[in-house]
Amino acid sequence: MPTESTFLLAGLFLLLAAAGWAMGRFGERDEEDHALPLNIDYLKGLNFLLNEQTDQALEHFLAMVRVDDKTIETHFALGSLFRRRGEVDRAIRIHQNIIARPDLASEQRDQALFSLAKDYLHAGLLDRAEKLFVRLAQGSRYQVQALESLVSIYEQEKDWEKAIDAAQRLESLGGRSLALQIAHYYCELAESAAAQNDYAAARQFVKKAQAGRPRTMRGALTRAHIARESDDNKTALRLYHRIIDEHTYLIAEALPEIVATYEREGSTEGLDRALQTMLNDNPEMSGLVAYTAIVNDIGAIPIIDECVEKYILGEPTLAEFVDLHQLSQTDADSHDEALQKVRRALSKLAGATPRYQCQECGFSSQRLLWQCPSCRNWETQRPASRVQFDTVLQHSITNR
Ligand SMILES: [Zn+2]
Repeated sequence: MPTESTFLLAGLFLLLAAAGWAMGRFGERDEEDHALPLNIDYLKGLNFLLNEQTDQALEHFLAMVRVDDKTIETHFALGSLFRRRGEVDRAIRIHQNIIARPDLASEQRDQALFSLAKDYLHAGLLDRAEKLFVRLAQGSRYQVQALESLVSIYEQEKDWEKAIDAAQRLESLGGRSLALQIAHYYCELAESAAAQNDYAAARQFVKKAQAGRPRTMRGALTRAHIARESDDNKTALRLYHRIIDEHTYLIAEALPEIVATYEREGSTEGLDRALQTMLNDNPEMSGLVAYTAIVNDIGAIPIIDECVEKYILGEPTLAEFVDLHQLSQTDADSHDEALQKVRRALSKLAGATPRYQCQECGFSSQRLLWQCPSCRNWETQRPASRVQFDTVLQHSITNR
């Protein structure tokens, strides 16, 4: 079967014929020459195409049609067409061929380097793409695009120091503010320093992360984690509560840590008091507390159990499966047992469905991801606030 590339090149050869190349009459036209035989190179190229030897036909085209002012746009168009079709090797060959021309104008050289860098990126050859983008970011009309590509490469390579540098240069060129993503780069550095027990370095990175606006609470999570690891429970708790105050949705990350910290201190009354204060200030948090407790299997804490019961009794989808009204009428023991049963079932359901979803593109995951792997935006994921019954039902139907 002839591929799309075969047709593409066939089209080009036909165009060449129409332009006079095939007759050997291109350039200085000689009135006497109109009866010249067909150009032998042209026939060879055509032969390759007829035998579906696309690579040889392309080589032939490149050898035959030199890059010059008249043909350079055709070469660029051909290269970008090949890349868009996923035939990156051929796109690379074409762009390298353009660059090889010794008397290329600097603007055209930059354009060819930029195209080649995009080919490498497409082929997953990040180090080669990086080298070219670094060169173009020094000063060319592709400076902004080159820096944007570099930021994305460094994010993929998790080279956060270089990502910070490239993003700051991009900001200084007058584009939009990249403060939030730069803060996350510092948080990445802070988290890896903390993972290696270098808490002093981690604190420094968090400080830098918190210097920008809008601020991310991720740095506070790292500081709270360091405080917990250093047995400074007071600071840890103060930070976890502040995190929830500023970004309610982070309760999903902070509540399990708060519970664990109080439990480690052996202070269940302290936990009870702290949660009571939080719920008095924000009664609407009850559902979030319940959901987080169900997902993380946090139980046997009266105030949390109350939230869970309220949540279960108030969930309309559940009412269709369980007689919740009757449940609330029964004696205390069987009531608790029935609630526990529903709770365990809910916990299982929650474990089987994604807990976080990106608000930009809808990508969902079990764990909180600070950068969405799909749309590459930072801090756009939010946790579900209730068990996603629809998704579970859908899931069980499609897997039946
Ligand atoms: Zn997304």
